[in-house]
Amino acid sequence: MFKSGFVTLIGKPNVGKSTLMNLLVGEKVAIISNKPQTTRNKIRSILTGDGFQIIFIDTPGIHKPGSKLGAFMVKTAENAMNEVDCILYLVEPRKVTEGDKNIIERLNSINTPVYLVINKIDTVGKADILTVIESYRGCYDFTEIFPVSAKNAENTDELLSTIKNLLPNGPLYFPPDSFTDQPERQIASELIREKALHYLRDEVPHGVAVEIEAMKRRENQELVDIQATIFCEKDSHKAIVIGKKGDMLKKIGATARVEIERLLGSPIFLELWVKVKKNWRESDFYLRNFGYDIKKA
Ligand code: GDP
Ligand code: MG
Repeated sequence: MFKSGFVTLIGKPNVGKSTLMNLLVGEKVAIISNKPQTTRNKIRSILTGDGFQIIFIDTPGIHKPGSKLGAFMVKTAENAMNEVDCILYLVEPRKVTEGDKNIIERLNSINTPVYLVINKIDTVGKADILTVIESYRGCYDFTEIFPVSAKNAENTDELLSTIKNLLPNGPLYFPPDSFTDQPERQIASELIREKALHYLRDEVPHGVAVEIEAMKRRENQELVDIQATIFCEKDSHKAIVIGKKGDMLKKIGATARVEIERLLGSPIFLELWVKVKKNWRESDFYLRNFGYDIKKA
């Protein structure tokens, strides 16, 4: 019998959810950065193997909402927990914090099996890992606990086999060669945003959104033309995004281009624009426009 099912990754921002999901699926679907709240939408990625298909749902980190965008992110994460076959709850290799207690409290109201994944074990010693395990064991009846390093692929094969074993019989939900249900456009815009986050100073990134205005293959050519706009919240931010003589924008564009070309498998011509939209994070219209629709969370 074919087996298939849905797995959601939850946990505080920056614990390595996107890194782990990308590792398990083997394709770069979710963007990664060391700045919290990089993942804003629910991102599905798909692993199809011999007799099985796993759909991973990477959620925005759970946190106290401070804006409408924040509220959207929290709601997406909560909805994802009830509709899946298992939950991977990712934590840092440290003792339980107050923030984690809030998440654990929410787990009490659901029936889905929860696997505790202690990530980043490459950053601590063995004895510390045991202390962390003990600390979490006292808080919740986890189905199993996996210390892993998503960065070094340590113990992640064991995690994957465990997930495979618990999948129910089910259909092939997505074509076997697809690795995400996100349109190429959306991944392209996320890749540009990833590069912007990477190069920009700390105060700018949270107000950054990227919209692909046009994406079209040139007639009779391999080349794909992409026009994209980077939105930010202030004029001063716009100046930073563009940089001296446009060098910041060039850096963002050049590095994003390489990855988008990999994604599409063809050369691209990328044009980037920068615009200011004051307070877009508080505007229902712009949130919808950038794909963060609370009704679809
Ligand atoms: P998310 O917000 O939970 O999706 O976290 P990300 O996947 O974006 O990762 C946040 C940061 O942690 C990035 O800088 C990653 O490179 C880093 N990271 C993820 N997994 C590991 C790991 O196993 N070990 C170490 N040392 N760093 C990691
Ligand atoms: Mg993420």
